[in-house]
Amino acid sequence: MADSLVVACRHCATLHQRVPIEPGAVATCRRCSYALFRNSAVSPDGWIALTASAIIIFAIANYFPIARLNIQGLSIQASLPGALYLTWQQGHQTLAVMTGLFSFWLPLMQLFILLWALMAIRARRLPADFHYGMRLLHWVEPWSMVPVLMLGILVALVKFSGFATIEPGPAIWAFGVLAFLITALSRLNAHRLWRHAEDAGLVANASMDSSAGGPVASCESCGFVQSLASSAKSDPCKRCGARIHFRKPDPFSRVWALVIAAAIIYIPANVLPIMRVRTATSDGAHTILGGVLELWRLGSWDLALIVFIASVVVPMTKLLALSVLMVKHHWRGSEVQRQRTRLYELIEFIGQWSMLDVFVVILMTAMANFPGISQVIAGPGAASFGVVVILTMLATLSYDPRCGWDERMERNSKVPEYRLKRSA
Ligand SMILES: [Zn+2]
Ligand SMILES: [Zn+2]
Repeated sequence: MADSLVVACRHCATLHQRVPIEPGAVATCRRCSYALFRNSAVSPDGWIALTASAIIIFAIANYFPIARLNIQGLSIQASLPGALYLTWQQGHQTLAVMTGLFSFWLPLMQLFILLWALMAIRARRLPADFHYGMRLLHWVEPWSMVPVLMLGILVALVKFSGFATIEPGPAIWAFGVLAFLITALSRLNAHRLWRHAEDAGLVANASMDSSAGGPVASCESCGFVQSLASSAKSDPCKRCGARIHFRKPDPFSRVWALVIAAAIIYIPANVLPIMRVRTATSDGAHTILGGVLELWRLGSWDLALIVFIASVVVPMTKLLALSVLMVKHHWRGSEVQRQRTRLYELIEFIGQWSMLDVFVVILMTAMANFPGISQVIAGPGAASFGVVVILTMLATLSYDPRCGWDERMERNSKVPEYRLKRSA
């Protein structure tokens, strides 16, 4: 077995033999049905072209205005960097840093690391710090939120359609394309790049290294399967140097602490205003639910529903689902465990979408910057809400779905191949 390539399932730790799969096929876990990896039909050169285009479109999206707004003869141009700057100037530094990271700096970093890694693999020469780059990419991936920002732009524009005449700018189209490209590129994660490097013969293959003789685990960051000295301690990965734990450390206390903290902060996030709208005649504070009702009144029941789902249903679902997953349970069969794993995948997937309303607030700040006529100022609820999203995402990342499967660890002497599914 020492020479055969192995892949460990992220969700149930089952080992599979890695055999080549045809383009467009998906390899799924035999035990929990998690999609282990897909062989996309896009060639490495195609990925480089996509990444380079995304970087150019990123520049267009942030250089040009999202929209030009006109109120009573005055006109302003709103852009994302302008919105972040204004939020900072108005004294909401936490909010500006948080949204700046998720909508600008981290997606930009993700794109540059991708391009750098793809070019290196193509040139068949890995730089000495390739493993640092991949660890950084693995860390950045969950926090890059351009598609959520794009939806935020649409919501903010609809909210303004009543007050001002809006001329869409070039950036709105650029953000639309960028959201699409970044979603496509999110499939190209650190594990996938390591596999490309393996296929090109540039790094050690993920064949099982049993030199330490202890329990077998795969590296969270690069997917390299190796044996550890013990299940209690963490060892550095033999390939990328990231800390490997047999199972994530103290998932029980960490996840509960984060869930409880998020549930507590969820209260001020909903009670405190997320923004204040000042016009010549009125000065009103808006909470999250107030914003949903306002969208409804403006006639956009579809966007009202989306904001309601993103800001109320998603965070509640995350908190409840994580609590359900954390309650100790007895083994009730593979089918129940598979459902629990699906629930975890759902929380991972919806994680960042609750950031929607926070993006709407900072975008509205830039769009309504007509001092004396109308002004939107972020409220303390927005930063609290952002913190809730971060805490629930950290809770999801701290949870270890493999623990649930450990109670019935199958000890096969033979490592099976994965199951193949054609992608649609
Ligand atoms: Zn699995
Ligand atoms: Zn590693």
